[in-house]
Amino acid sequence: MLLLGSVIVAFGALVAIFILGDQPRFRGTWIHSLYLTLTRASGRLTRWVGIILDENPAVGSLLRWSVPVFYCCIVTFCIYLFFANVYGKLPPEIKGSLFHHLWIFMSIACVAASTTMVTFVDPGTATASNVDLATSLFPANGLIFFEKRCSTCNLQKPARSKHCSTCNKCVLLYDHHCLWVNNCIGLRNYRWFMAYLVSNINMMFNGGILCFSELRYQRHLHYQNWGWWALITRTTEYNRIAGILTILTALFVPITSIFTILHLRYLYLGITTNEAGKWGEIEHLVGLNALVYIVEKGQYAERATMRDADGSFTRAYLSLDDEIVLFTEKEESRYTIRRIQSMETDLDNIYDKGFWNNFKERVLTIAQI
Ligand SMILES: [Zn+2]
Ligand SMILES: [Zn+2]
Repeated sequence: MLLLGSVIVAFGALVAIFILGDQPRFRGTWIHSLYLTLTRASGRLTRWVGIILDENPAVGSLLRWSVPVFYCCIVTFCIYLFFANVYGKLPPEIKGSLFHHLWIFMSIACVAASTTMVTFVDPGTATASNVDLATSLFPANGLIFFEKRCSTCNLQKPARSKHCSTCNKCVLLYDHHCLWVNNCIGLRNYRWFMAYLVSNINMMFNGGILCFSELRYQRHLHYQNWGWWALITRTTEYNRIAGILTILTALFVPITSIFTILHLRYLYLGITTNEAGKWGEIEHLVGLNALVYIVEKGQYAERATMRDADGSFTRAYLSLDDEIVLFTEKEESRYTIRRIQSMETDLDNIYDKGFWNNFKERVLTIAQI
């Protein structure tokens, strides 16, 4: 138990560092160093795997599909274990309740439907016929998105889109590439992704409650003086399985809930997973007093210090998209330079329309592109 607990805590800490380690407040700390080491290692591993997969497309496809197949097998196996062992031993008030039967059926049906949809619905691909409309709907903001072309698809890149090297296409309103469903999460399937998270939480929560009800009922019937751990480990097979399923759901409901809350926070902020890191970079520049707005150029820039060939230092203003020197301190007096002091008061996220509108746009409305 101690070993299992340590592994779970270590895994949780690594996941937390992976998700939050790039926050500006952690810069210069051991958390950020560990984050950099982890991302470098995972980048190297991804590149290494990518090279192997590029050379063997059939192996690549097989490996990518193995994760969703593994997930489906695990879920199906747990549902089978529940019906084969736990269901028959539930208290009579649950076994005789139409509400519980409907809840069980709906929970499984919702997971099956949302998994199918998020896996197979096109996330929203940029094509020659929709790219103009997409670019007008998602204009560049000059801070984290710029007017660019995708060199692979040879198409204009609408803001908020990204070329996914795994799916080999530009995905509109790109959130992330999800290994669990072997699909990108984007404009057209984000709602199914949220449904997938919520329906998994609901099914695990429902399953956990039922398994715990079985344990409580069996303890009440036959093992009143037994401890919970002894009840799970030393009595019957069905109590053991109900115990394992209760522990599993008690672990995975909070993990999946934290992930869902993170996505609700992104919806509240009007950003995607992909954009969280980009806004983090902007916040870092603001924290360093290095982000400025050049009025005459209508452009944001990074103020940096460059070392000249003779060893002296010059202040330079770099464009945010490709870090080209726009001008140096010698031409500074020609421009009106406004220092960005606060993310909240000096910058505007043009993609954020307020939580309810963001939620409606990304989760409730069927995209017309
Ligand atoms: Zn592309
Ligand atoms: Zn993808």
